[in-house]
Amino acid sequence: MRVGRAIAAGILVLMVTGAVIAFGLGPLDAPVRAPEPQVQPETQPDTPSSTEPKHPQPPAATERADERARMVEQQIARQRRGRQPIKDQAVLRAMGVVPRHVFVPKARRRQAYDDSPLPIGYGQTISQPYIVAMMSELLELKEDAKVLEIGTGSGYQAAVLAHLTPNVYTLEIIDPLFERAAGVLRKQDYGAVRTRRGDGYFGWVEHAPFDAIIVTCAAGHLPPPLWEQLKPGGRIVIPIGGPYEVQRLIVVTKQLDGSRRSLTVMSVRFVPMTREE
Ligand code: SAH
Repeated sequence: MRVGRAIAAGILVLMVTGAVIAFGLGPLDAPVRAPEPQVQPETQPDTPSSTEPKHPQPPAATERADERARMVEQQIARQRRGRQPIKDQAVLRAMGVVPRHVFVPKARRRQAYDDSPLPIGYGQTISQPYIVAMMSELLELKEDAKVLEIGTGSGYQAAVLAHLTPNVYTLEIIDPLFERAAGVLRKQDYGAVRTRRGDGYFGWVEHAPFDAIIVTCAAGHLPPPLWEQLKPGGRIVIPIGGPYEVQRLIVVTKQLDGSRRSLTVMSVRFVPMTREE
């Protein structure tokens, strides 16, 4: 999909650093600069799907469809300063269907399709639509892939993933957020998404291994249990860096021989990964 886009690491670092200096820090999750990701070719064998994939049909998708279409067209699919357009058609379709407004708190619904992250309570945020699309694309999910999300938050990212594969697992550490997200997911025909309250640092060993893991909170390092629960040929998309500083969004791939490759995609700001006592 993204072949032949080798960018020298030095240039990338300069671009990112330059952008940070030029634009300052944006809101949480704001991309500082989105150079073309260099992504390794898929190495994972195809799993045959026995049944036609059943796409979720969220009832609220009939509402605010025009705003969603505009969001996809203007914020996600289009080339903009500091942003590479998202090209994966399945991701673009998902972003056009998932009713983002029902995943944000009532008081924030009006801004649901704005080009920004939004508070969802308990000091947490739902990522900007572009970041959700970018991270979903970076996962390179095949039909039927098994994907684990750390940080359910509002449930929005999990819903987007549910349009890409029927096998979505998501963990949330804050109880009321977990409850709320699980409820919205059920009501919006995302009942196939498996939710659990728990510390995502440890992954979800009962369902491992995963083809892909997406972490939507920033960690100081890649949690070793997540690496262990990743299939060879699989990938983890994770923001790495300290709390309240610019973090690097990284794609870590596990080669078939078990070795690790990391690629920095862009600078981001996420809420920190917290740990259970
Ligand atoms: N993906 C979410 C946004 C998440 S914000 C969405 O689409 O709305 C990050 C989330 O990660 C927060 O809800 C936070 O509570 C959660 N989180 C932080 N540390 C965690 C941990 N160790 N395990 C699971 N979830 C965690």
